[in-house]
Formats: sequence, C-alpha cells, structure tokens
Amino acid sequence: MSAKHQTPEYRRNARIIRERVRSAWRAGRAVSCWRCRGAIAPGQPFDVGHLPGALGSALSDLAPEHRHKTGACVGNRAAGAKLGAAITNARHTPTIPTKNATTWRL
Ligand SMILES: [Zn+2]
Repeated sequence: MSAKHQTPEYRRNARIIRERVRSAWRAGRAVSCWRCRGAIAPGQPFDVGHLPGALGSALSDLAPEHRHKTGACVGNRAAGAKLGAAITNARHTPTIPTKNATTWRL
C-alpha cells in the first residue's frame, strides 16, 4: 500500500465510497467496477481505487473496483502489483562486471 493510501483524505473518502457500495447493495442496486465496468456482486471483495489520471484522493478521484481478477477484469491487487514491480524494476540497475571478470578455462 502506497503512501497515498494512508492520507487522512484517502481514508475518509474511501470509507465514504465503501459505505456507498454497501448502501447500494442493501437497496438492490448494482455497483460497477470503474476498471472493467462490470458488476461488483453483493458481498464480492472490492477495493476503493484511484481513477486513471487522479492526482489526489478527493471523493471524485476514487471509485470501487474488483479486488481480484474476475473474468475480463485484472482486478486492483494484480494491477497494483504490476505497477509496483515496474517501479521497482525501473529503480534497479543491474551491474554487469566488464572488468576483472573471471574467465573459466574449459
Ligand atoms: Zn473490474
């Protein structure tokens, strides 16, 4: 979980989104995932994600999405893991020794 998920603004607004989802489910209304536009079934695990291009954690920047991969949806956790790996890999610069390398005689 990144730092942007720990700000008071995100926590407050994520709580509001979660309550809106539960309220819609109680009323029998469908809730759609912003990522795949598919339905998030009542009781199905979901996360409160940042919309593409969202710069902050305002209520308008957040929306519910599938937590895990479901059918055509990659799900928030897998998408987050992929993004995290890309950030880590971009920071990592492999060092390949070009001098003093041991050459093994066969
Ligand atoms: Zn989805």
